[in-house]
Amino acid sequence: MKVLVTGGAGYVGSHALMELSRAGHEAFVFDNLSQGHAQAVGSCPLVRGDLSDEGQVESALEQSGAEAVMHFAASAYVGESVEDPEKYYFNNVVNTLRLLRVMRRRGVDRFIFSGSCTVYGVPERVPIGEDWPVQAINPYGRTKMAVEGVLADYARAYGLKYASLRYFNAAGAAPDGSIGEDHDPETHLIPLVIHAALGKRDSIAIFGTDYPTPDGTCVRDYVHVLDLASAHVMAMEALDERAPMVYNLSTGRGHSVRDVIERVKQVSGRDFRVLEVPRRPGDPPELVGSANKIRRELGWEPRCPSLRAIVETAWNWHKEHPDGFGG
Ligand code: UDP
Repeated sequence: MKVLVTGGAGYVGSHALMELSRAGHEAFVFDNLSQGHAQAVGSCPLVRGDLSDEGQVESALEQSGAEAVMHFAASAYVGESVEDPEKYYFNNVVNTLRLLRVMRRRGVDRFIFSGSCTVYGVPERVPIGEDWPVQAINPYGRTKMAVEGVLADYARAYGLKYASLRYFNAAGAAPDGSIGEDHDPETHLIPLVIHAALGKRDSIAIFGTDYPTPDGTCVRDYVHVLDLASAHVMAMEALDERAPMVYNLSTGRGHSVRDVIERVKQVSGRDFRVLEVPRRPGDPPELVGSANKIRRELGWEPRCPSLRAIVETAWNWHKEHPDGFGG
């Protein structure tokens, strides 16, 4: 299938390009490069354009001959979304509406959306299933909820075939070392701990050690980025038969902040300073998802479910590319 990939130069998007090509699909990237990296798209055609410009989106759809759209382009910092919600509602909601409008105009009706486990807010218990209440606690999560509502309405009214994939914590890098995580600013735990192991920062701070979890630190479900990518391809291939689809992408296993730090020390063979600081506002104590639905319905299975394997691929990427794509 020919696929337009918005945000294809970003972290999850660029790994999706790899999986698309492995599965014999033809990807075409649309990215404004505000966060992404041109080097991350490999040999895929890349159009630098912005979703706020419907003319640019329309010509990219036309040029690519796309029969489906994978939509990764979004703003994704929770803290920033609290400070500047307008940016998030425009980038994540309004621009998605524009994209969907152009798709309708051109008769493209297959859509894969980057959802998020943030829609669950602070769950009462884990593992979380897709039928749990969605009750995001920050603007970023609410933009993801809003788009899911739009998609359901468009499916009913216009016959849009969509999948919303609710990621838990994306992590790791391509095992061949060619692409990996490179955010600016970096806020995610695994790359920050690795930066400490590489001596790029003095220490790593644990945000809160008094949570009601086994070791007092927050627990997350880390999913390998290529496993996320393969789920996108499988969902896209199943759209004609199964849409609409809403799936968690998770491993069902939780790891605490201390687990991650220990694992990075082990994999890297390096020691570094660990500080304990107060909680970061808005962090739920435990987010672990059940991915039974996508396993059952599409046969998805994470190929890289262990924290060790995830950290190993991330470590290899950062060690070889200490300055990310800029290095
Ligand atoms: N975290 C931490 N120190 C850091 C960055 C993150 O203790 O420097 C914690 C954070 O509070 C959360 C977990 O690590 O409990 C995962 O955070 P991340 O930002 O990677 O993902 P999130 O779950 O917030 O999407």
